[in-house]
Amino acid sequence: MIIDHSVRPRNFKTLESAQSAEGYNPLCGDRVTVYVRMEGDRVADAGFQGEGCAISKASASLMTESIKGRTRREIEDLFSSFRALVTGAADPDGRLGKLAVFEGLRDFPARVKCGTLAWHALCAALENVGRL
Ligand code: ZN
Repeated sequence: MIIDHSVRPRNFKTLESAQSAEGYNPLCGDRVTVYVRMEGDRVADAGFQGEGCAISKASASLMTESIKGRTRREIEDLFSSFRALVTGAADPDGRLGKLAVFEGLRDFPARVKCGTLAWHALCAALENVGRL
């Protein structure tokens, strides 16, 4: 699934009138810009642009799929579960769904930043909400 999402990333697009933020991972050279358009407190649409390794692309692709329709609070919870998963925790309640494919990153600590890069950019973009 990671390969599939890196070769054919979903939501690989810019969004008009959306909040955005960039992320850069100097360890690997990954760059990503995440776009998020809110309706009230929920994500109406999300997209990303950038270049980087397969993990960073697949993570951004799966992330943008996973956050649509969610509130900022739900996204914060999802990110903390995701970050815990890739650094060694389990996903006992299965809330991560497809995102659980990144479980294997725990065996490659140097790649954890590749997997969380898009999430950090997303959080930065969400912090810009209401401050355009
Ligand atoms: Zn990378």
